[in-house]
Formats: sequence, C-alpha cells, structure tokens
Amino acid sequence: MENILREPIADYLKEESKEFGGNELANKFRHNFPEEIENLLIDKTRYKTIGSPGKGNWTDCPWIAILDTLITESPQKGYYPVFLFKSDMSGVYLSLNQGVTDVIENYKRDAKDVLKLRAEDFRARLKFDSSKFLTKIDLNSKTRNAKHYQAGNIIAKYYSNDNLPGSNELKSDIKQFLEYYENLAYSDSSFSDHTENNHFETKQIRLHWRIERNSGLSKKVKKKKGYECEACKMNFVDKYGELGAKYIEAHHLKPISELGIGKFKVDLENDFAVLCSNCHSMIHKLNDPSDLKKLKEIIKNCK
Ligand SMILES: [Zn+2]
Ligand SMILES: [Zn+2]
Repeated sequence: MENILREPIADYLKEESKEFGGNELANKFRHNFPEEIENLLIDKTRYKTIGSPGKGNWTDCPWIAILDTLITESPQKGYYPVFLFKSDMSGVYLSLNQGVTDVIENYKRDAKDVLKLRAEDFRARLKFDSSKFLTKIDLNSKTRNAKHYQAGNIIAKYYSNDNLPGSNELKSDIKQFLEYYENLAYSDSSFSDHTENNHFETKQIRLHWRIERNSGLSKKVKKKKGYECEACKMNFVDKYGELGAKYIEAHHLKPISELGIGKFKVDLENDFAVLCSNCHSMIHKLNDPSDLKKLKEIIKNCK
C-alpha cells in the first residue's frame, strides 16, 4: 500500500508480452489498483474509480480514472482526473483529462482538434498555478487513444518511475485535482440557470441540482430508506399497485446555503429524505426546504 503506482509500472511491460485474457495484472488494473486509489479518497460514496489495461487486448497506455459521480457518469465523456501511464512505463501522469470516446464518435477526424480547443477553454476557466502543472503531456505512443489523451489534457502532474509519490503526496495531489475538477464543473456555462444569484450561490444551486438528480445517489438513498414517504407515509404501491412498485423520490435535506464547494460529502443516512411527489413539491415551497419536521407538522395540522 506504500507505493500504489509502483506495481503497475514495474510489471506492465513484462506482462504486456503475454496473453491478455485471464492475465492477473490486467485484472488488477480493473480491480485492485482502482480500489487502492479509492482507499485514498475521503468520500467513497461520491467518487468512483475505474481502471483499464485495454479492451480485448493490451493498451499502450493503461489508465485509472477517478469519477465524481455528481459530475461525470462514465469515463467515455465529460472530464475527470486520470492516471495515464506512459507506454514505456518511464512514468505516469495525473491528468485532468477528457473522455475521448464520445468526442471521437461525434467528431471523427476533427476529434483531436476539438479536444485541444476544449482543453484550452477549460484552462482559461481554471485558476491554476501554471508553474506547477503541465499543459502538455507525452505518452510516448503512436496509438490513436494516446494521441487523443494528449490532446485532451487540461492540466497534469508527472511522476517519473524513479521518483514515485508516497501515499500522502498522492493523496494531496488527488485532492487538489478533485478540487479543480469540481471548480470546472460548477463554473460550467452549459449549466447556466438564468437567475440573478451571485457566483457562489449559482454554484451551490448547481451542486444541489446535481445531487438531487444524480441517479446513482438516489438509487442508494432509496435502497437505504425504502419506498414510503417520510412526510405523509404514502406508499405508491398502495395507490397504484405494481405500477408504483419501487417508486419514490429522493430529496436532499442540506440547505443550499450550507453546501460548500470543495467540502461537500455525501451522507446517505442524514442528508436525504425519501418523499412522494406531492410532499417533494411541497417541501421545496418551504422557506427552508430542509425542514422535514415543519412539513410533517403542516400535514398533521390539516388532518
Ligand atoms: Zn408524501
Ligand atoms: Zn428536493
């Protein structure tokens, strides 16, 4: 556990010459290595790590990505921090990069240019210390994927194989990249809402919006809390039979003003309520949409 990046780097070239199917190192890239990275993260409910040694065959540059499920659902699109190993295993980048699959599909031959332009645009929106990060990476590979990753790099940090970071350095680097990732997401102009809120409030509202509509999170909330409305005790099955089976809505209870960008942790037990659609609409009409007690009182007083 002392040096997470050591094993993939040390063994890859040797294993790469062997059969891909059933290879143990390939398996570790899919399971163990991402898990070890995940163990460095503070909030495992929110982040998902995915690693790949290639699909169907060894890739030149294997990778391990860290997805914030509030921002990116799949490594094929969007952007996220990713460990990209150089093809000669002389080192590895931690790169805030873009999902290339989706861009390649949509833009074909122009994909590289699109990725480069987007990377520039992202950099312009990020406030980062340009003396500390690389804007160009070299994966030492001629494969199409590698070239697209190079084009997609927003900012990166490089670790050479004779100077790999220990857990603490890695942890703090990942934390920093996750902060940039989050900052980028909530300054994303494509999510603009036409309100007059100040910049910070706008970011908070976007964060709330993401939390409430995040399908992965709400699934976990429902699994934990069941399908009976916490405010009025209504159960969709009682009213709609089979059609209402497993239907309920997840409501995020933290007041929007308390959502800290860069500080938000997911607490499934205490931060969410499951509500029927009516109660969910009504709680959002309260001055404080986190006041479940108040809503229950109102219902009680009406009966
Ligand atoms: Zn209800
Ligand atoms: Zn809600």
